[in-house]
Amino acid sequence: MRHGFTRRRGDAEDLSHAKAQRRQDGVFAAKPPSISNVTASGNDPDYEWLRPLGVFAPLRRTILLFFSASPRLRVKPLLCALLALLPASALADTLIDNVNGITVDRNGTVTRFEGIVIGDDGHVVQLVEPGERAPRAEFRENMRGRTVIPGLIDAHLHVMELGLSQLVVDLSGTRSLAEAQAAIRAFAEANPERPWIVGRGWNQELWGLGRFPNTAELDAAVSDRPVWLQRVDGHAGWANTRALESARVTAMTSDPAGGRIERKPGGREPAGVLVDAAMALIEKEVPAPRANDRDLALYKAQELLVANGVTAVADMGTSLEDWMTFRRAGDAGRLQVRIMAYAASVEAMSLIGGSGPTRWLYDDRLRMGGLKLYHDGALGSRGALLKQPYADDPGNRGLERLTGTQLRNLMSRAAMENYQVAIHAIGDAANAEALSAIDELSADYTGDRRWRIEHAQVVDPADIPRFGQHGIIASMQPAHQPSDRAMAEARLGPQRLAGAYAWRSIHASGAPLAFGSDAPVEAPDPLAGMAAAISREDAQGQPPGGWHPEETVSIEEALAAYTAGAAYAGFAEGHFGRLAVGERADFVVLDTDPLEADAPALRRIRVLETWIGGQRAYGGATRGERAADAPGR
Ligand SMILES: [Zn+2]
Repeated sequence: MRHGFTRRRGDAEDLSHAKAQRRQDGVFAAKPPSISNVTASGNDPDYEWLRPLGVFAPLRRTILLFFSASPRLRVKPLLCALLALLPASALADTLIDNVNGITVDRNGTVTRFEGIVIGDDGHVVQLVEPGERAPRAEFRENMRGRTVIPGLIDAHLHVMELGLSQLVVDLSGTRSLAEAQAAIRAFAEANPERPWIVGRGWNQELWGLGRFPNTAELDAAVSDRPVWLQRVDGHAGWANTRALESARVTAMTSDPAGGRIERKPGGREPAGVLVDAAMALIEKEVPAPRANDRDLALYKAQELLVANGVTAVADMGTSLEDWMTFRRAGDAGRLQVRIMAYAASVEAMSLIGGSGPTRWLYDDRLRMGGLKLYHDGALGSRGALLKQPYADDPGNRGLERLTGTQLRNLMSRAAMENYQVAIHAIGDAANAEALSAIDELSADYTGDRRWRIEHAQVVDPADIPRFGQHGIIASMQPAHQPSDRAMAEARLGPQRLAGAYAWRSIHASGAPLAFGSDAPVEAPDPLAGMAAAISREDAQGQPPGGWHPEETVSIEEALAAYTAGAAYAGFAEGHFGRLAVGERADFVVLDTDPLEADAPALRRIRVLETWIGGQRAYGGATRGERAADAPGR
């Protein structure tokens, strides 16, 4: 049984087609079955034997060189016999030649190269150094001097939400309430069979509304069916009257712990928006996507990711349904992008992993390695837990989604079985509490834990040095900064901005950085993220010179945080993240060298091709554009 992605969707079993295709592609795209039967356990004896391909490579190259130099010689039969003795796969090296190659280690130290030799099992066999003569290989792909960087890794996103967001009404481009209402109405008319209209992406800040939208405004768009629309940050939802009725949310309903029902002025009638934990009141009524909806969503997400040069992701909050979707794709040979999964709950963690993290499945494409915990909410919906009240909402300090005790208990539960812990912490109080909890648990749970703090968005400058302790990883999303700038200033006031989106200071404390997009909150576009990281300007170049530019990082550091750093953050180093011998040959072909680009140029760079495990997953014949920058929160 074949596992792993085979270059083109839907023809995993069709080797004859694959062989014909590989001639067009100029690469050996399909693996012979003999080497492809890497089982889910990843320790097939055949596979282990072939792993040190480097041992075969010199002999193989010598033979090929001799062979090609003397096409008519009588030794040909002898050579053929010799070749037959070698494993068939050992002949199928691919040389990616004539590249402006760049790879970085976790510290951002750059190594340049001019070619990559890829073994048939999709690992890097050799990097051709500048000036070094390229070895012969059976297949050669001439990149004509274009730039090649390691496959980009998004260290924090939500795979299924990204995919499902492609299948529902998308309000992220809307600039006014009226525009959103028109989009919702049009979607409902185009989808008459859907019992619920669901969607996401609205942002009252971008509408210039100055308040949340209400039920009547949604009824005006659709009133015959329930409608439920998540805010862009996923921390609030907007319901119409039908949706509130079906969930029986009334004036009598009290706010659940960790959540808030917005009320009409001067009373208790629900106003239409439900924040954080209150969202579950409606969401339990929304029909769950069917398995084939989920499969389609995953494929949509993958398409979007590879078009942006993303070859691996950390999925932050994997449910059992999500995991089964990943497994169905893996079993069908359609899992392209590598997924480092963090369970959405202890229940999901235990059901998926049992008494510890899973192994790497499907040729390093899937692993459940940790647990995602939410300590607070988000800044936009005033759910982030702050030490002092919101500047624009006196008396509100945000929402504690887990108490300090609950947080520690869940962290222990995961750590005792060697799962990695990733804590969502946005507000300064949440970050302080997460740091304290890690500090306390580190006494019992020693060793290489790589505690992760997700977002680390607003940190009291007094707490920043604590990031440098216990090997804590700061998993941050550069694109949030330009998107949030105006909102963050309003929520926090000027005093608390010093420790907001403080990439450089947190990195300087000793914490390894891992960068991501939090897609679908932001577009899964690492190059736009790098542009924000080095400039702290938005896509329009605002503000000129950058917002608190003292917190920029270098382009090398940004690239590292999107490659080797993001791999390290998921215990994936040695598997992927760098272009280095023995790692998976995941790389991206760009039209411009990112190390030579300023922020506007980074945003303009085109991803020409994306390769995963030595196979082209995007580009070549078909060209697409990267997703446009999503509007912010
Ligand atoms: Zn997230």
